[in-house]
This record gives sequence, structure tokens and C-alpha cells, in this order.
Amino acid sequence: MDQKMGEIVADLKSYFEYLKGIGIESLIVSENIPEEVSVSSPPLLKMATTLEEVRRELGDCRRCKLHRTRHSLVFGEGNEKATLMFIGEGPGYEEDVQGMPFVGRAGQLLTKIIESIHLQREEVYIANIIKCRPPQNRNPEPDEIQSCHPFLLKQINAIQPRIICALGAFAAQTLLKTDAKITALRGRFFDRDGIKVIPTYHPAYLLRNPERKREVWEDMKQISEWISRENGAVHPPGDNRR
Ligand code: URA
Repeated sequence: MDQKMGEIVADLKSYFEYLKGIGIESLIVSENIPEEVSVSSPPLLKMATTLEEVRRELGDCRRCKLHRTRHSLVFGEGNEKATLMFIGEGPGYEEDVQGMPFVGRAGQLLTKIIESIHLQREEVYIANIIKCRPPQNRNPEPDEIQSCHPFLLKQINAIQPRIICALGAFAAQTLLKTDAKITALRGRFFDRDGIKVIPTYHPAYLLRNPERKREVWEDMKQISEWISRENGAVHPPGDNRR
């Protein structure tokens, strides 16, 4: 095997490992793809899931106890091809009523935070660690996070964002598989299966602690600068970033 072919095989291997890591076990490969293209361009492999398929698979979910008290299942909303994804904790009262993420007071603040880097809400994708409101807005419990997590991973896989902003401790700790404090995690870039993850404070926390807004602004600036740099960068074949 010559060196170039070796690199292609290594690229494909890490791509398949990434897919496996986020729960994708099978791929639909388009027929009639000339061999040299199908070998060297992993993006031509169609992803096995779309957001619509993930939503369908979730159905009228009763996988955890939260289905008993929820009014709506809050799947997520936004741009299916978003570069930037926000992941919060779980629906609150307003989200449960309206069936959409971040539409209450914290959501209004999140909209302003998104607009602070000259993006519109519709340009990003917004989801949560859990899709159903815990009673009295209590913290999500481990079994609830565990039931929901495969679906969040499938959403991430369908969207393939280049960067995820984790809002608050639950999102950051769940996505990064750590119990480190949000104060230690925020503002830092992490790599999760080839996707950048940057935690910041949750908008609901900012409503209670407005003096922390400055740090969130710093984190948002970092996100914006990272996206600008990436947009100017050229990625080699086999690199799954858009
Ligand atoms: N808080 C969250 O974490 N998510 C929402 O959707 C709303 C409030």
C-alpha cells in the first residue's frame, strides 16, 4: 500500500470509529459511486440518520419516568445544518407548554446571547440533555439522562455541528463525561469525537447572577472567532468538518 492510500485508510478508520462512538453502526453507501471517489471522500457516504428519523424513532417516548408528568416532548429546533449547536439542561415550564426549547425567560436571554455574535436563532440548533421537563424543574436524574442521551447523540450526528456550546454544568458534564465544575470548564475548548465543545454558564444562572454575563460574552467571542477561523480554513479529504 503506498503512503497516500495508507493515509486514506487511516482517515476512513478514524471516521468509522467516530461514527461508532456516537452510535452509528451502519451506513448507506450510494450505489454507482466510482471507486476512487467512494474511497477518498467519506462525506459521500450518506449518514444513516436524519433529524426526522431521530424524531420518528423517539416517537411518543416513554423510556423514562418523565413521560408521566410532561406536557410536551421538547425535541429541539433550528437549522438542521447548523455549524453551531447549543445544548441546555432540560425543558422548563414554558418549554413544556410550548414544546420548544428555550422559550421562557432564560430562552429570551439565550436569543440575545446568540445575536451578540451576529447570528439569528434560526441559524443555530438548540437542544437539551433531556427532552422532558422534570417535575418542579428538579435536576435531571441519571436514569433520565441515560435514556435520553442516545437520541441527543443521534441529533448531533444528524446535524454534524462543528462546535457545540454546552449551557451549564449538566450539559457540560454530560457531553464531556466529567464531574468537573462548570467554573473549571467554561471558556475552554474540548474535543468530543472531532467536534469542539465549549461550555459556558447557563442563561438561567445568568438571570440570577448577571455579573457573570461578561464571562459568557468572552466565551461567545471565542466561539465566533473560532468559526471565522474555521470558515477560512481548508480541510483535507477525510476530515468530516464542513
Ligand atoms: N433551560 C434549559 O436548560 N433548557 C430549556 O429548554 C429551557 C430552559
